[in-house]
Amino acid sequence: MKYCRFQSDFGPQYAEVADRNGTLWIERLLPPPEEDPWTKYSGEAQIDPIPLETATLLPPVIPSKIVCIGRNYREHAAELGNEVPKEPLLFLKAPSSLIAHKQPIHIPPISQRVDFEGELAIVIGKRCSKIGPDEDVRQHIRGYTVVNDVTARDLQKTDGQWSRAKGFDTFCPTGPVITDEIDPDSGIQVQTRLNGQLKQDGNTRDLIFTIPFLLRHITAAMTLFPGDLIPTGTPAGVAPMQSGDTVEVTVEGIGTLSNPVIVG
Ligand code: MG
Repeated sequence: MKYCRFQSDFGPQYAEVADRNGTLWIERLLPPPEEDPWTKYSGEAQIDPIPLETATLLPPVIPSKIVCIGRNYREHAAELGNEVPKEPLLFLKAPSSLIAHKQPIHIPPISQRVDFEGELAIVIGKRCSKIGPDEDVRQHIRGYTVVNDVTARDLQKTDGQWSRAKGFDTFCPTGPVITDEIDPDSGIQVQTRLNGQLKQDGNTRDLIFTIPFLLRHITAAMTLFPGDLIPTGTPAGVAPMQSGDTVEVTVEGIGTLSNPVIVG
């Protein structure tokens, strides 16, 4: 199933998204997931189907944390002059940086270089801690979505650690939907376009650390909760964005996350 969160006539709601001849439609309201106690389910209300692209979407998750993986594609590590890590490189992105499909990315005037990083992201469905070597990780995964891990590249270097460079407001575009209908272990295409021009073209079969490996590694350190978001790393081809640009990240089987870019 695919689902989204959107602004309905009666406030934020979750809804199933169905593919009708290649067009995605919001069709049926869903109860909020357990990480969202604030949304009042309007399930009794009938809604007329709405094309997904005409709806006002909201970020599809409310994560307690966003645990990112750095340098998880060999060619991307190389393009920034970094070694391939011996174990997954983890960092946290501020949940306050989340924005939805079509909302603008704000380039902070303090940075001279803000890059896109198109990524496949895992959405956790069940609280999990210390996942064992023989445990099936899939039972903890609700589905997958698209993330743009926007990065102030210059501040990432000068700060030494990455909280600010990765954590500015609007630096985590996410969506448009969550789906459980894909299998990243079998190879999923991850592409980023800047103003329509293809910049990144990777495949999850080239992940250095696989999704099961990542979840065991992360939960060895920290408990994951429903709604937690895990962007799995970006392929080669990262580049800066300017005011007036439009950046689109497409993950095969999920959809396209599109955001305009503005300064300030
Ligand atoms: Mg990244």
